[in-house]
Amino acid sequence: MNLSFHPLDLKLRRTFQIARETRNIQNNVVVLLKDENGIIGFGEAAPTSFFGEDVNSVTKVLGQSADLLKHADPFQIEDITLLLKNKFPKNAAARAAIDIALYDMIGKKLKIPLYKLLGLNLPTTKITSFTIGIDTLENMCKKVEEAKDFPILKIKVGFKDDIAILRELRKITRAIFRVDANTGWTPDEAIKKLNLMEELGVELVEQPFPIGSIEALKKVRRHAKIPIFVDEDIQDSTDIPAFSDAVDGINIKLMKCGGIREALRMIYTARAHGLKIMIGCNIESSVSITAAAHLTSLVDYIDLDGHLLVTNDPYIGAAVDKGRLTLPEGKGLGVGARCCAPLPSL
Ligand code: MG
Repeated sequence: MNLSFHPLDLKLRRTFQIARETRNIQNNVVVLLKDENGIIGFGEAAPTSFFGEDVNSVTKVLGQSADLLKHADPFQIEDITLLLKNKFPKNAAARAAIDIALYDMIGKKLKIPLYKLLGLNLPTTKITSFTIGIDTLENMCKKVEEAKDFPILKIKVGFKDDIAILRELRKITRAIFRVDANTGWTPDEAIKKLNLMEELGVELVEQPFPIGSIEALKKVRRHAKIPIFVDEDIQDSTDIPAFSDAVDGINIKLMKCGGIREALRMIYTARAHGLKIMIGCNIESSVSITAAAHLTSLVDYIDLDGHLLVTNDPYIGAAVDKGRLTLPEGKGLGVGARCCAPLPSL
């Protein structure tokens, strides 16, 4: 197989702010894996600095992986992904791009969509949340109004005015709220805020504390009813057992765990520990969002809106109508390119 890659700079529709950072652009990398018959698998890396990755680290890993993949059999995904994990343990987004491209290629070779390849139901019924980043109250109200077609909103929190903002937003929408503190709370603050949020229609809270705060999570669960999910705390399946008695659920992202294969391992590990599952994303194009969408029949909650937050997604994949995701029926990921998409060098 021949591996090539191209930078993909996604422009945010609106400045994106969470508890620890602010962004206007997301620098991703698109991967094209081509076999000897000219079949091309698409993949994407959406690196985040929180996990120590950026475009430079991704392209370095991809460059080094090209040699390893040259004579590899794409059907041996298990061997390939384990080899890459051993060689590049801290580069999950780069590995995810290759994993996704392998699954896309195999689906195309077998002429079936990815969800069928994985033995899954066609997931057309789940509704994704739509993210409202931290902003001035006025701008957050505007964002909520613009998102009026979405029945579930994920509101980013993690500042002292969280409750006041949620109260104002509740006045203008009946949407279900999920809140994500992105490590921004203290335990006492969390208990107080979660108890107040019960009356504001908050369905769950994500990552209230800095990573590794297992005792704090247990304490909050004893004093608040709203289910607690961890995101930043859980990168891959090996992280799950330590949190099984501390939280209600986990947020799985292809970019955190290294791709579809590890995401499946995480799903089954989480189920074995009695945990609920959300599948989430970074700011990504339709390539990797659609890859994650193929897994949605296995999870309880969907947060796959990364491609909706950008103005220049070069690809067409999972469609979203009033929050409801529909998968394309094409082979592999089923993703197509718009005219401006990066193309393979022929
Ligand atoms: Mg999160």
